[in-house]
Amino acid sequence: MTADLTSLTGLDVPTGLYVGGQWGRGRGGATFPVLDPATEESLAEVADASAADAIDAVAAAHDALPGWAATAPRQRAEILRTAFELMTQRSEQFARLMAAENGKSLRDARAEAAYAAEFFRWYAEEAVRIEGTLMRAPSGANRILTLRQPIGVSLLITPWNFPAAMATRKIAPALAAGCSVVLKPAEDTPLTAFAMAALLEEAGVPRGVVNVVATRREGAAGVVAAMMADDRVRKLSFTGSTQVGRILLRQAADSVINCSMELGGNAPFVIFEDADIPAAVEGAMLAKMRNGGEACTAANRFYVHEAVADEFTSEFAARLRALRVGPGLEEGTDLGPLVNQATLDKVSGLVADATGNGGGKIVLGGQAPDRKGYFYDATLIDAVPSDAGILDAEIFGPVAPVVRFTDEADAIRWANDTEYGLVSYVYTRDLARGLRVSEALEAGMVGLNRGLVSDPAAPFGGVKQSGLGREGAGEGLLEYTETKYIATDW
Ligand code: NAP
Repeated sequence: MTADLTSLTGLDVPTGLYVGGQWGRGRGGATFPVLDPATEESLAEVADASAADAIDAVAAAHDALPGWAATAPRQRAEILRTAFELMTQRSEQFARLMAAENGKSLRDARAEAAYAAEFFRWYAEEAVRIEGTLMRAPSGANRILTLRQPIGVSLLITPWNFPAAMATRKIAPALAAGCSVVLKPAEDTPLTAFAMAALLEEAGVPRGVVNVVATRREGAAGVVAAMMADDRVRKLSFTGSTQVGRILLRQAADSVINCSMELGGNAPFVIFEDADIPAAVEGAMLAKMRNGGEACTAANRFYVHEAVADEFTSEFAARLRALRVGPGLEEGTDLGPLVNQATLDKVSGLVADATGNGGGKIVLGGQAPDRKGYFYDATLIDAVPSDAGILDAEIFGPVAPVVRFTDEADAIRWANDTEYGLVSYVYTRDLARGLRVSEALEAGMVGLNRGLVSDPAAPFGGVKQSGLGREGAGEGLLEYTETKYIATDW
């Protein structure tokens, strides 16, 4: 525990590895610092897992698996329900912890704490509804019986941008299905994962069912590769970049590990000439600025019909201009710092490129303010050519490039011209057009006149190189089960 962190957040945040229900420093005793991105100062020193520690965690999860898989679904549901209640009671503390280690504004952090808790509630409700099927074989000779069984030890790897929700979106369905897990959080945000493990222990999760190992960035590849090579691991659920996702898919091939992959996005936000512009601006603020643009679902490219482009950009710029930049933990902050120096460098580079040779015109922002921390101003770039480099990259920052169009077919073609396919946004008052365009967009999810799609009750996931499988909804639970077919005769 760290006293400062406790006074900052109101939570007793463990800083050790959590393996088999024990908190410890790991075999090597190494640690690494977790930085506050608003001050660049250390919040805590946390245990740095080695590959051997990670294998200990796999062994603990494997030992705990039979008991947990045999637990009555109702009992698993009650534990998840308790986790929901505890997290709801402590949502302010979790919000403060996330604002501290991730840098997001308290407003975003509060929304995430509530969203994260909802996965416990949703999967508490789903845990008792895992159904099989029974049918008569077409030949009439026998019956076909199918059951859903827990897939086994699940390795859960999460990014730093939603430290609580990305963890609960995996832990809750895994536990509901009867799986045990090892969670590897991102280097930048391990504290929320440790606090989550402590909460789950308090909610009644038996020892070894949930394990958490954190590592410094340089160690992540080795620690994860060791677990991927252990054939007790039967499931990988990864949320992170497409680049790392590809590496893990290759590793999964060796032991034929079942994979759910939530990867990068490059969301188009298409505004037609018949759109409700104030509603589109509202949606754009959510889709672009939630989490300071550090979201896989963040609107990355705005395709705006020429007829409404001036109106949209001037209203959007006015809203962006009014945002208050500051430390996430400061009440009233709208836009916190980016998570680290590398992200700040990347965002600055993309803006320079888009406005230099890229030909875009800065309407607002376009620079890092002169202050300590990884801050970047809210930025709007108009008249970006449809082939500019910024439109291919995941910006992951508060930067909105606008491309003007006149033809619906061009907008759809440009929107689909990417390897990604996570989410798209469409604004139009014409429902037929909205549905037609939604069908044509190559994305796992579409926000039709809505700037936010995330919902624990909805299937979240991407097509193309944005991922495999779905999280949330009933589908999210099935990702942690295997179908067993029993050919039966009576
Ligand atoms: P990342 O670099 O891919 O890292 C994700 C996780 O993988 C972290 O825990 C990271 O650990 C670990 N990792 C990194 N390199 C690894 C390797 N070689 N082998 C095994 N594990 C490795 O992504 P990020 O920067 O944290 O997160 C941003 C990305 O996540 C964006 O692309 C975003 O779109 C995506 N994302 C997708 C969704 C979705 O639902 N589709 C949701 C949120 C975010 P370290 O932190 O120690 O490097």
